[in-house]
Amino acid sequence: MPTSFEDARKLILDHVTPLGTERVSLLDAVGRAIAEPVFASGDMPRFDNSAMDGFAVRAADCRPGVALRISGYIPAGGRAEPPVEPGCAVKIMTGAPVPPGCDAVVPFEETEEHPDQVTILGAVKVRDHIRYRGEDLSAGQRVIEPGAAIRPPEVNMLASFGQAEVAVYRRPKVAILSTGDELVEIGEAMGAEAIVNSNSWSLAAAVKELGAEPVMIGIARDNAESLREKLTAGLEYDVLITSAGVSAGDRDFVREILVELEVEQIFWKVDIKPGRPTAFARRGETLVFSLPGNPVSTMITFEEFVRPALLKMMGHHQVLKPLIKATLKEPVKKKSGRVQFMRVSVVTENGALCIASSGDQNTGILRTMIRANGIAVLPADRDRFEAGEEVHIHLLDQTAMPIAE
Ligand code: AMP
Ligand code: MG
Repeated sequence: MPTSFEDARKLILDHVTPLGTERVSLLDAVGRAIAEPVFASGDMPRFDNSAMDGFAVRAADCRPGVALRISGYIPAGGRAEPPVEPGCAVKIMTGAPVPPGCDAVVPFEETEEHPDQVTILGAVKVRDHIRYRGEDLSAGQRVIEPGAAIRPPEVNMLASFGQAEVAVYRRPKVAILSTGDELVEIGEAMGAEAIVNSNSWSLAAAVKELGAEPVMIGIARDNAESLREKLTAGLEYDVLITSAGVSAGDRDFVREILVELEVEQIFWKVDIKPGRPTAFARRGETLVFSLPGNPVSTMITFEEFVRPALLKMMGHHQVLKPLIKATLKEPVKKKSGRVQFMRVSVVTENGALCIASSGDQNTGILRTMIRANGIAVLPADRDRFEAGEEVHIHLLDQTAMPIAE
């Protein structure tokens, strides 16, 4: 009995636990999940400072048209002096500490400067244009949760706390094995019926894009001996991904040999299209994904099953892409009984997300994958959708470039 899409995904995530952690430098941490909570090392900002280039004043002295004596100048990085005496203004730059007596800053644009005096042009309120100590964060405040992805904002915050290293989860080493007698590697001499092993490359690319470490371990031929040797090697990694050899063909031995190698089978068929012959298994700590061989099916099943698993292994809190609603621009027919992943072009029309098929949905058509910037996840129980209906999609890389027919 095939497993439903939802159950398959749950079974996978239930079997995944995050790997160990390591400390790496800030830039090596980018894109990875942080493994520890981060607390503010002190108040942020550390001192009251000016948010504008202008004049530090006493708000009570200021009315439109009033002239104040310029009694000093504080550049960024300068000391907070002299104090602002009544009737005076201290010229101040953005980020400079505000001096005693100052309770507002008037930006240059709202003043008229003369040699020793400044005229205030508008109304001034207490606290105007001052960034107060601790208004962003107070010392000890918890600001980043474990499992958060480290992006430029997290890097900025860690750097501002003076932290050059951070604990992150280890990257899984992912063995990638293609199977098939027809396959040749790029650049190898090939007969008319040969097929270039492109799956190892797209899988390695997808693994790399997630921040995990791909290791291409070659091609296993469609015989027990070759499969035994290559699968045994692949089981030494954190994750083993195989492609092809799992459908109903008479040379599809992958599952059989995995059983022989004492790999625990968790599921081996899913009610989805494309990608029905997808299998998930485990031996010890190693997860095994056996994906179908058809390149489009391989990429879609990676996206739907392997991606969340790798992200969870790498400690990420957010492992599933959010499903968002989009309006179909054309009717769609499908078979009921399976979830269908439709490759779509997502566009915005009058601010609303709309989708259309990105081309021929036959799984042999790689071109349609190249043109897709989204996947519509069409539910198993339906067989027809009308134009104008809303369906769930998730996005793929938005840099996908539609090409002309
Ligand atoms: P199979 O699951 O072995 O029946 O393979 C399904 C289809 O995918 C066949 O047309 C294969 O030639 C093709 N295929 C299998 N493995 C690869 C690969 N590594 N790279 C490109 N195409 C492949
Ligand atoms: Mg095959």
